[in-house]
Amino acid sequence: MADVLKGVPVAAGLTDELTARCERLKALGIVPMLATLRVGENPGDIAYETGAVKRCEKIGIAVRKIILPSDAPAGEITGHIREINADESVHGCLMFRPLTDKAAERAACELLDPSKDVDCMTDASLAGVFTGSGAGFPPCTAQACVELLDYYGVSVDGKNLAVIGRSLVIGRPVSMLLMSRNATVTVCHSHTQSLPEITRRADILIAAIGRARFVDASYVSEGQVVVDVGINLDDEGKLCGDVDYESVAPIVRAITPVPGGVGAATTAVLAKHVIESAERFAL
Ligand code: NAP
Repeated sequence: MADVLKGVPVAAGLTDELTARCERLKALGIVPMLATLRVGENPGDIAYETGAVKRCEKIGIAVRKIILPSDAPAGEITGHIREINADESVHGCLMFRPLTDKAAERAACELLDPSKDVDCMTDASLAGVFTGSGAGFPPCTAQACVELLDYYGVSVDGKNLAVIGRSLVIGRPVSMLLMSRNATVTVCHSHTQSLPEITRRADILIAAIGRARFVDASYVSEGQVVVDVGINLDDEGKLCGDVDYESVAPIVRAITPVPGGVGAATTAVLAKHVIESAERFAL
């Protein structure tokens, strides 16, 4: 049976390190602060916001929550982003997407100061991920995959990596982050042919598809490390990943569970980005 790569110890390790860094910043008179901007009452957004606030408070990061009604005019949303940009006491902003108005969402995203863009909403931050310039911050979930592999000592250097999914939130950025660590990456998507053949050849498989238990035993082979990014509800309303854990775990070397895998490390990565932003501001 596979080793289970849980996210909780990854988050705990990061939390300890970040608490110490937060204390050092406070000694310099800087209180790291995250602003959250939520439009509407999406339960998934509220759950993530609650987790993020709890994680930040544990570390000592201050949080300013901005909550707007779902019919908030675009001007009100951009007004808040402008205030966040201008406020030197705010070091990071997490905005919940998607907003109902797509044009407003794009405008708000692009307006955010990239130095405060702790979850990679702006094109400038994405460019930083793709060029490897170090500007901005990668998406927290994509970075959480990297932190998880690091924590469990899984080296990607020279390894074949298959990523299923090419979204700008996970698939593409995680591919770039791991390619910059010298992995050989195959990015797969809904038009990829012979997908199980490709994924079986990989040393490490990352599933970011959004389809409940899509990756079954036919997609994996012995010795692989499988990272399941998916968060789905199955037909019975039960939370599950993109990987069929029951059939895959007996075959592979290691696997992340859902829940309790990548998702459990994500808010700690968000906190890490806020601390890094505050450190860049301080130094
Ligand atoms: P997304 O934007 O819908 O992208 C899904 C990707 O999967 C697309 O590139 C799509 O290909 C590909 N895909 C869909 N069906 C496929 C198929 N049959 N074969 C091969 N590829 C297929 O989703 P996302 O935002 O990247 O999220 C992916 C998953 O991660 C979701 O379950 C989401 O809930 C979860 N998630 C987890 C966290 C966390 O903290 N753990 C955070 C965010 C999201 P095309 O490009 O060709 O359409």
